[in-house]
Amino acid sequence: MAEKLETVVALIGGGPACITASIQLTRAGLDNLLITDELGGKIKNANLIENLLGFPKGISGDDFIQLLKQQVRKHSVEYITQTVKYVEYKNVGTNAFRFIITTDKEQVQSKYLIVGTGSKPKKLEIEGEEEAYSKKRLFYENYNARKHVKEKNVIIIGGGDIAYDYALNIKDSASNISIIQRSSISKSIPILQTRAQKEESIKILTGVNLNKIKFDGKTLVINAKKKDRTL
Ligand SMILES: Cc1cc2nc3c(=O)[nH]c(=O)nc-3n(C[C@H](O)[C@H](O)[C@H](O)COP(=O)(O)OP(=O)(O)OC[C@H]3O[C@@H](n4cnc5c(N)ncnc54)[C@H](O)[C@@H]3O)c2cc1C
Repeated sequence: MAEKLETVVALIGGGPACITASIQLTRAGLDNLLITDELGGKIKNANLIENLLGFPKGISGDDFIQLLKQQVRKHSVEYITQTVKYVEYKNVGTNAFRFIITTDKEQVQSKYLIVGTGSKPKKLEIEGEEEAYSKKRLFYENYNARKHVKEKNVIIIGGGDIAYDYALNIKDSASNISIIQRSSISKSIPILQTRAQKEESIKILTGVNLNKIKFDGKTLVINAKKKDRTL
C-alpha cells in the first residue's frame, strides 16, 4: 500500500487555474497540495499569447511555461506529478468527511478539493485514427507535433482559434499546411484568420467532411468529402 498523504486543500490539475489558486493558498499560509500529471497545462501549445497583461509584445506558450515554472519554484508550491484515477468523499470517523483522492501511485486525503483539470482535445472518431496516432503521424496537441512536422505537409483539422494558432505556430517549419474545416465559415477570431490568410504556406479548405485515415506505412492519406466530391 502506498504512503497516505494528508492536506487541507488538494488541487487536481497543473494548468494556470490550479497553479494560480495554489500560489495564492500558499501565500495565505494554507496547507495545500497540487496533483497533476504535468505542470503547465494547455497553454504550452500557444503560438503567441497576446491577451495577458504585462506582456505588451505577447509571449509564446513555451516562454510562458518557463516563467510559470519559475513562479511555482519561487513560492515553493507543493506538487506531485501523478494522475488522479478517482475521488471519493468519505466519512473517516467521528463524522469527519474527507476527500480520498486515488492517483496512479498513492492516496491523498484532503478536507477541501479544487478541480481544474481543463479540457481534452476532441477525437475525430473515424477509421484509422488510432493507428495514425500510435505511429506518431496524428497529434492532438501542437506541442507534441512540432518536432515531427519539419519540412512536411501538414493537415490541421478544425476551424477554431486553436487550429489557426497551430498553423501559425508551425508555418516556418512545415512545408505546406492545410486547415480543413467542416463548416463553411471559420469560427476563429478574425486576427488569427487574417494572419493565416497572409501566409503562402497555409491553405484553408472549408465545408469538408472527413471519412477515414489510411496509413500505408509511409504516407498518411485522408479520405474526405466536399459537397459529394471525394477529395
Ligand atoms: C493552441 C492554444 C492557444 C491558446 N492561446 C491562448 C491565448 O492566447 N490566451 C489565452 O488566454 N488562452 C489561450 N489558450 C487557452 C488556455 O491554454 C486555457 O484557457 C488554459 O490552459 C486553461 O487552464 P486550466 O488550468 O483551466 O486547464 P489546462 O491548461 O487544461 O490544465 C489542466 C491540467 O490538469 C491536468 N489533468 C487533467 N486531468 C488530470 C488527472 N486526472 N490527474 C492529474 N492531472 C490532470 C492536465 O494534465 C493539465 O496539466 C490557448 C490554448 C491552446 C490549446
